[in-house]
Order: sequence, then structure tokens, then C-alpha cells
Amino acid sequence: MIHLDGNSIGGLLSDVFGRDVTDASGRCRECGAENFVGALHVYRAAGVVVRCPSCSAVLMRFVAARDEVWVDLGGLLGSGLEPLRETRVHVMHGGEVVDGRAEP
Ligand SMILES: [Zn+2]
Repeated sequence: MIHLDGNSIGGLLSDVFGRDVTDASGRCRECGAENFVGALHVYRAAGVVVRCPSCSAVLMRFVAARDEVWVDLGGLLGSGLEPLRETRVHVMHGGEVVDGRAEP
């Protein structure tokens, strides 16, 4: 499957985090590899899946519907990345939505 890199979703990331995070780094929960967000592998399907370039573990998932976006950062360790706490950004943990909204 053809992938893009993290820079290709810079706009989506800015919506979610409120700033450009492509030069932030995150550590993979599976293999411990640390990479810049801009260097991660991005796959687009129903949503956006961001995978570790080293072991292909899923690091982040984004599902956008209308002008809202659901975010799962469960594959990242200590990235320091915090999604904006606003009404159109919803945080998922392992598929469970923690702010009361159902995943689309
Ligand atoms: Zn990894």
C-alpha cells in the first residue's frame, strides 16, 4: 500500500493540535523508535492512519466527519502532543470515545 509522509497531513494536524507539529517527535509504543511526525508513514482510507516507519505499528488515527475530527494517539509514547480541547475535536482511547461522543 502506498503511503505519504506526515507532512501531507500538516493541515489536519494543525486543526487537531492548534499548531504545526510536523517537527515534533514521537516515540513508538511498540518498538521505541523516535521519529519526527513529518517522517511518519501516513495511510488514507476511511480515515487517516499514521504508522511507525520502523515497525508499522499504528501510532495515530484520525477520523474526520463534517468539520469534526476524532483522534486516537494510543500508539505514541510521551510525545507531548495534546489535541486541542474543543468541541469539534474528540479524543479516542483504544476505540473508546472519552468525551461522550460516539465514533462515526
Ligand atoms: Zn515502531
